[in-house]
Amino acid sequence: MEMRDIPEPELLNSNDVKIRMSAVGICGSDIHYYTHGKIGSQKVEYPFSVGHEGAGVVVEAGKSVKSVKPGDKVAIDPAMPCYECDQCISGRHHTCRKLRFLGCPGQAEGCLMEYIIMPEKNCFPLTGNLTADHGSISEPLAIGVYAEKKSGGTKDLKIGIFGFGPIGMSVMLAAKAKCADKIFVSDLIDERLSIAIKEGVAMTSNPGKENIIGKIMHDEPMGLDMAFECCGKQEAMNEAVELLKPGGKLIVVGIPEFDQWSLNVEKTRRKEISLQFIRRQVDCVEETLEMMKKGSVIIENMVTHRFPFERTKEAFDLVAAYGDGVMKAMIDF
Ligand SMILES: [Zn+2]
Ligand SMILES: [Zn+2]
Repeated sequence: MEMRDIPEPELLNSNDVKIRMSAVGICGSDIHYYTHGKIGSQKVEYPFSVGHEGAGVVVEAGKSVKSVKPGDKVAIDPAMPCYECDQCISGRHHTCRKLRFLGCPGQAEGCLMEYIIMPEKNCFPLTGNLTADHGSISEPLAIGVYAEKKSGGTKDLKIGIFGFGPIGMSVMLAAKAKCADKIFVSDLIDERLSIAIKEGVAMTSNPGKENIIGKIMHDEPMGLDMAFECCGKQEAMNEAVELLKPGGKLIVVGIPEFDQWSLNVEKTRRKEISLQFIRRQVDCVEETLEMMKKGSVIIENMVTHRFPFERTKEAFDLVAAYGDGVMKAMIDF
């Protein structure tokens, strides 16, 4: 990774705005591109800029732009759908056939740049107490809000969150806001579990050090209503299947580094487990910003590390190594 000087982008389309970036969060998917050069079939061709969890200030707006104006702080939704295909027409903009997503190889350059151009529709004003951090965090947090919603709702349920990185934490924050009864959290990194404890979850467990199935079953002998796989690890999937009660739901949010999941046939069948995969999010950014605005979600424990733009590579190395108990590393401009 290196810094490159490129020409400042020019505003060409009347529906676009030019944004000076204020903050960009580093996501696990950025790290996949950094360490492996790909996610599944999406391969990076260099040079390529990553980053999709951004917030900034509008510096110029096209003639037809109405919802934002220069000087406005905005959260950026990185997904630019075509609004025309079957998926878009049915409301599934996140699986648009011609989707362009910031920092996704072959689609669009990322937002780890000083200036970017975005369609007006992708900009959500940060009003009231909302800061650039809220704007940037709204991207991963919206995935948690969406996963919680897509699960059918966690209210009054006993749920397990397997993997407590920023996405697991986002699911936890959404479930907490929606009044889940009990939240069990597992992760291999103790510092992350400390954050979960600070957030008031019912129980944390480190499967690298203890028998997580025994520990949770001791507390909840009937099993969990719902399990969110948030780390892309086969072991987590197996533990989730083991811990779910009959009729339970398994929600798969994590991005594995392998190509094929495996599932225990007898347990999933006899328990009649429902399986739901999650692809990012759709239509949840505004709701997510609103939740932070009214305080039903508080993100103060999410950002553990900050780096100036010039030191982005250090931030990537830290996150790639899971160093220093990092949860979310934020780049400041
Ligand atoms: Zn992300
Ligand atoms: Zn489309």
